[in-house]
Amino acid sequence: MSLITLSSSGGSGNSVATLLNCGRQYYLRYHEKFREKTINQNLFFGSIVHDTLLIKHLEQRSTSQVVEDYIRSEIAFKFASTMQGKYILELSTSEEELVSKAIKMYQAFSEIPINPISIEGKFEVLLTDPVSGVVNNNVIVNGRIDIIEQVKITEKYENNRLIIEEDSNGKNSIVITDLKTSSAKLNSLNGHFFQLLFYAYIYFIKHQKMPDYLCIRNVVKTKIPSVQTIFYKPSFKEIISTYTTIKDCADKISRGEFQENYVNCRSRYNTNCPYEAICHSELFDLPELEIEQKLIKED
Ligand code: SF4
Repeated sequence: MSLITLSSSGGSGNSVATLLNCGRQYYLRYHEKFREKTINQNLFFGSIVHDTLLIKHLEQRSTSQVVEDYIRSEIAFKFASTMQGKYILELSTSEEELVSKAIKMYQAFSEIPINPISIEGKFEVLLTDPVSGVVNNNVIVNGRIDIIEQVKITEKYENNRLIIEEDSNGKNSIVITDLKTSSAKLNSLNGHFFQLLFYAYIYFIKHQKMPDYLCIRNVVKTKIPSVQTIFYKPSFKEIISTYTTIKDCADKISRGEFQENYVNCRSRYNTNCPYEAICHSELFDLPELEIEQKLIKED
């Protein structure tokens, strides 16, 4: 059996989520190495703000001016790459407007005191059963975790609901944090739940103990950006079920079971899958022009 690597991180590095969504999508992205040519405005903007926030914490001595200069150069660089045809950028705002938005979001985030243990750490473990400790040497599980931080936290119950809050008199806790940027407040961890549990699983296997909490710090793109923080307390049961999901994915890959096609495509009517052009052309024997317009094959 050849070595299988499964990862989950924001953006394009999410091979497990891709496989869970559609096996065919996983095959086209990770085996055939097709990448979408178009980068939408939200992803582009999110990646700039994300990098900037992390730079701010990596380079503790950075002044606001240094970070703001970084934002300018990074956005200019991405614009230049677009000109070279590396990808197509779907933007409805100018370069200067983007710089100004990104700076405002960075300023909102930099007001939150963060006590990081690790920033943008890349963690890797072998797939291990969290109950028996049995290791599968053929499967690597990795993830890039935005922040592992120490936070003082208190818990209380209100109407039978657990409320978790930052509190300077609270208990020192280990928190795995994912940074997000969105245009509205999030109601829960919902869409990001698996990704955070994936990190919690890696943390557990690496340290043989649970992280205390999972967290999203979401920079909300309002006129005056604000930061929303949501905590969640993971259970050992959830670590076991995450392990089972990862193991099922690895088994599926090792058996080569990812060849679904457009006929039984679950996403066909409600999502805009980037690989639809390929599935579509295979089914209806269409020319490859649409594929060339939308996708690029990486080396
Ligand atoms: S179009 Fe449907 S079947 Fe094809 S890769 Fe996308 S989700 Fe999968």
